[in-house]
Amino acid sequence: MRGIAVRLQGLRKTFGETVAVAGVDLEIRDGEFFSMLGPSGSGKTTVLRLIAGFETPTEGGVELAGQDVTGLAPFERDVHTVFQDYALFPHMTVEQNVAYALKVRKVPKAERLVRARKALAEVRLDGYGGRRPAQLSGGQRQRVALARALVGRPRVLLLDEPLGALDLKLREQMQLELKALQREVGITFVFVTHDQEEALTMSDRIAVFHQGRLEQVGTPAEIYERPATAFVASFVGTSNLLQGQSARSILGTDGTHSVRPEKIRVLKESAVADEPGHATATGTVAEVVYLGDTTRFLVDLDAGGRLTALQQNLETSAEDVAAYRGARVRLTWHRRHTIQVPDAR
Ligand code: ATP
Repeated sequence: MRGIAVRLQGLRKTFGETVAVAGVDLEIRDGEFFSMLGPSGSGKTTVLRLIAGFETPTEGGVELAGQDVTGLAPFERDVHTVFQDYALFPHMTVEQNVAYALKVRKVPKAERLVRARKALAEVRLDGYGGRRPAQLSGGQRQRVALARALVGRPRVLLLDEPLGALDLKLREQMQLELKALQREVGITFVFVTHDQEEALTMSDRIAVFHQGRLEQVGTPAEIYERPATAFVASFVGTSNLLQGQSARSILGTDGTHSVRPEKIRVLKESAVADEPGHATATGTVAEVVYLGDTTRFLVDLDAGGRLTALQQNLETSAEDVAAYRGARVRLTWHRRHTIQVPDAR
């Protein structure tokens, strides 16, 4: 069994009247790529800063590798934080930037150089050691910040929206690189993001935050396919909630349900869709959006409510798609894809 890298117990943080963190209990395992996901203001950055030691909890405690560090200063904790703006020293070379943390810790010069070069190689920046930050691209600067974080081999690496400043293509590339790097070095990564796709792509487990509380902790598949609350269902992916009368007439059941857009097939209304094990609902296409590889349908259901359906454009061209606006359709999906969403607490 793996050990626990970070343990948060009854963690609470208030700023005057504002409750930033409203009582969080959480365990992050050794070697895990762990994301804290939530909308702006949900408290995830404050939790990260509490782990780093930049903030002191109002109540509760922080343990790192079994040691209570609640009263310790940031430099006394075996963690390193990578900020969104990278915080590189502009007057130092890349190599000096990376070696700096070791210099502070009085590591001899020769060893500093060897370790700095190794860290630069890990982030695929060999040969860039002599440049200054201004001579690098955004993605390269990001990698320098990572090398600087890795060089001291912290037990836990804390990353606060580190890819937020990069454009979409580069961000997607860095997501995969960061995940590969984490696997290679085996250090626990705690990654803050408000981007659900980013969290789903990279994480071993995700904690979903809402109003200073944890809504759910689980693997990407658990979070996506078995959301524990209506908030998780709507924040991670398209919620597609079926409630009340709509749930009763389509599913024959009460309570709140959801079905993910890619699980739904869009057929002509006249199509016979009584395949065993399938749910079916008729409606009118309110909106249809051609997205190249897929098409997104917004369908107003006769039973009430609206569902989004996503179809692969296997045979469909952009012209076909336009003709669907206002059309009558039948939606169908296998019942095993109906998600039961626990009602709001
Ligand atoms: P974002 O994605 O926008 O960074 P977040 O989920 O990380 O949001 P936090 O930054 O943790 O959220 O903030 C949680 C709440 O605490 C917010 O209402 C914020 O305004 C408040 N807050 C955070 N830091 C402080 C502070 N130093 N002083 C006062 N209020 C603060």
